[in-house]
Formats: sequence, structure tokens, C-alpha cells
Amino acid sequence: MKQGLIYSRVSTEEQAKEGQSIAAQINLCLVFMEQNSYLLAKDGIYKDEGKSGTNTNRPGLQTLLQRVIDDHKNLDAVFILDTDRLARNTLDHLSIKAIFQKHSIKLISISQPMIDDSPEGKFIDVVLAGANALQSQITGRKTSKVMEQKVKAGWWAGVAPFGYINSINPNPTSNLNKRIVTPDPIRGPLIIKMFKLYASSSFSLDALVIKMADLGLIPKNGGKLQKSLVHHTLRNPFYYGTMMWKGKLEKGKHKPLIDHDTWLLCQRVMNTHNQNGSRKRKHNFLLNGFIYCDDCQGRYFGEQHIKKDKLYRHYYCGSCRRGTYTNIDKLEKQVEKWFAKVEMTEEYADELRSKAKDILESIRGTTNEERQGLVNQKTAIKTKIRAAEDNLLDGTLKKDKYQSITARLESELDKIEVELSKTSRDYSKGLTRVERLIDMAQDIKQTYHDAEPEMKREYLDLFFAKFMVKDGKIIAALPSEYIKPLITSGKLTVRIKNGWLPREDSNLEP
Ligand SMILES: [Zn+2]
Repeated sequence: MKQGLIYSRVSTEEQAKEGQSIAAQINLCLVFMEQNSYLLAKDGIYKDEGKSGTNTNRPGLQTLLQRVIDDHKNLDAVFILDTDRLARNTLDHLSIKAIFQKHSIKLISISQPMIDDSPEGKFIDVVLAGANALQSQITGRKTSKVMEQKVKAGWWAGVAPFGYINSINPNPTSNLNKRIVTPDPIRGPLIIKMFKLYASSSFSLDALVIKMADLGLIPKNGGKLQKSLVHHTLRNPFYYGTMMWKGKLEKGKHKPLIDHDTWLLCQRVMNTHNQNGSRKRKHNFLLNGFIYCDDCQGRYFGEQHIKKDKLYRHYYCGSCRRGTYTNIDKLEKQVEKWFAKVEMTEEYADELRSKAKDILESIRGTTNEERQGLVNQKTAIKTKIRAAEDNLLDGTLKKDKYQSITARLESELDKIEVELSKTSRDYSKGLTRVERLIDMAQDIKQTYHDAEPEMKREYLDLFFAKFMVKDGKIIAALPSEYIKPLITSGKLTVRIKNGWLPREDSNLEP
């Protein structure tokens, strides 16, 4: 049977009120659990009394979260009377929810069972994730530009592949090749040996792993040589001089360890072995899990391989296979067009905006707390400086001693000023970020187009459950569970002549 925990909290103001006492909350939760076939886990009741719900620093909640982290394998859900019990502001709420989600534990509030999975809740989740992603995107963009230039010029930009090391170029010709990768003097020769042994076709992958470990091939970070690393290495064109970078192949200027023919031979050996049912390597294909075959309803999968020094990437139906291979870019571009069909009403955008403002309020709260801490430190230092002045004046402190003390205090003061300026800057950034995101939410197609792959998956998940593919075309889409009620209520409109899949269980036909 499924196992659950109960969290209950009562604030000082509520303590007197009837029906909200800790005992009453626990009883209601227990009844609900029984009706829904849940068992109370051992020592499964957590409570906080008389503490304010404005922060997460509550002993009952903290031990509950620790239990969730330590014991999640034996648990299925946490029950609360309503979501206010957990946290008073959205940020805390989301971070607590994230802990539950990470450990696959449901949060069930028995008086408003659907609140967490409401479209608004999901939207805010995604908007907030988007705000964070956007921030790292902005800081990441600069570095990725330089990296791209580097790769275009033929120099690897990143951690050296297994068998190579990152090193300083003794004779750089430009900024782009100051740091390069060179063969690892210890592992390099062993990697060469590994390719040759595998190319001889007398080793299975498992046997090769054992053989190479015997020969002393150890991963860079130590530990045991793993099959996945050997597999990945044998598949990587880097070793004959070609770099794979963001789905494209680039000629590299690094020293190859093997020749192209040896590499090709290894690929052939591996493909022959693979036919005997070894599992496929997983790449991150954007549309995996979203695209389905219109003929057989089966799942499409993403796949990539290198043939004649060219990279092929496609999606195909796992059961029909023949004739379903479709170029990745072709399908991914079509998905963008589907995003263009979704439009948000002004009213709904306003609704989201005001929700986002709430989030912002709580962000402001934390920044203000940080600021206050820094201001307090500043005051303390100023007090010390004044005390030193007093001591100098009354003669208890010598002039040179006074000077060294104040110099140290002044420099501490400078540091705090810098920190202070950061806190206010961060806040203003936060403001433009969230507001901009809501604006962006209204231009869904562009937002999706501009997003990094990880965020794209979030947006896909927010809007769509499935795309049906036939003859290389997406012919229909199924809205996500979050979007369905919004479409029904008219908060989102979808400009579609035909296409949303009419389903028995829905009335979503346009
Ligand atoms: Zn099929």
C-alpha cells in the first residue's frame, strides 16, 4: 500500500479557532488518506505550532523535508490541509515543491486538491524557471560565443576528451589557441591500443573494458573504467581529428590518435555487435517523448550517426521504422509553427502578470533581508572607526596603529559597499526579467524559438502532450493537461483549422 506523511501547522492567531487545530488537521488528513488507500508511514506526523508561516525555518517542516530526502524510496505522498500550511510565499512554496518533485513524492493538499497542478501554478513554475534560465543564458552567451569561435577555428573548447589533456600552447598564433588539447602521455597510448584491439573485432565491448582496465586505463577522475566511457570514446570522431560540437562536425587541428580507417572499422564492429540487441545510447533529442507515429501510434525516437564524415540526425518510428526517418531540423522547425498557433488573451496575460508580481514581492523580501544584513555590518564598522578615533584622541592608541586599523576597516567598508550595490542591481534585474517574461509569454512562438534546449523542453511540456507525425509532417497535436482547461475557458486561443486531435474524453475540437 502507498505510504504517506502528514504535515500540519497552526499559527498563533489560528490556535484558538475551531476546526483548524493540529488535531483536527491530522484527523482530516487521516480520513482522506484512508479513503484514497494511503497508509500513514511510521512516525509520519510532523507539526509546527505557533510559528509564522512566512519562512521555511520551522523545525517540523525541516525534519519533514529531511525525511523526504532520506526516506523517499518508502514514501509516496505528503498530505496537508491546504497549501498555506506549507509556505506563505510562492518562492518558498516552489522550492519546497521542487524537493518533493525531485524525490517523486506527491504533495496533496486535501482541501484544494488541484491547486498545485493548476494551469496557473504550472505557468508560474515555468515562468520562474524561465527567469532563472534567462539569467544564466545571458551570462553563458558571452562564453559560448568565444567557444564557438574557437571551435570554428579548429580548436577544441572544453574539457579534453578521454586520452587528451588540456594544456597551454607554447606557440600560440592567436587568442583562440592559447589553450589547446594534446594527447595525454599516459592514457593516450592506451586509447590507441583500445581502438586497435576493438578494430580487430576479437573483443566484445565488455571484454574490451576488462582488457583495458587490466592494461591500466583509468578514467581521469579515477575510479573504475566504465563501459559507457569506453563506448562513448569509441564512437567519438575526435580521435581521428573531427570534433562534434552542438550537433555539427568541425575539422579539428588537434593531434589525432588514430586514422580515419581504424575509426570506421570500429564503428562497423560496434554496429555488428549492436544488432545482437545491445541498447542504444541516449542522446538528448528535443522532441523525444513528444512525437508519435500517426500510422501505428508508436513512439518516435531520435538517433544520430556518422557516415562518410557527415553527421546524420533523424527521428523515426520505433515500430514502423522503414520510411519514417525524418531529418531532425525538419521536425523541430514544424514544432515552432505549432507554437505560433497558440495565443494568450490579454486578460490571462494580466492574470499571470499579477501572479508574477507576487513572486517578485517575495524576491524583493529576500533581497531586502540581505541588504539589511549588509547595512547592519556597515553600521558596525563605522562604530569601530569612531571608537578608534576616540582612542587616538584620548591617547590610548598610537597614530600608526590607528592608521593601520582604519585602513583595514575602510577596505572592509568598501567591500560591503560593493555587495550592497550588487543587491540593488540584482533586484532591478529580477524585475525586468519577470516582467519581460510575461511579455514573452504572450509571444509564445518567439519565446520558444529563442530558448535554450532545456527551456524548450519546459515550454513543450507546458503546451503540448503529443504531436502526431505522418510522412515527415506533424499533422496534429494534443494539448497538454495544463492547457486544456485554458482552451476550454477561452483564456488561450488556438488558431487552428484542423489539427487538435479530437478525443473521446475531451470537448476541445476547435
Ligand atoms: Zn509507426
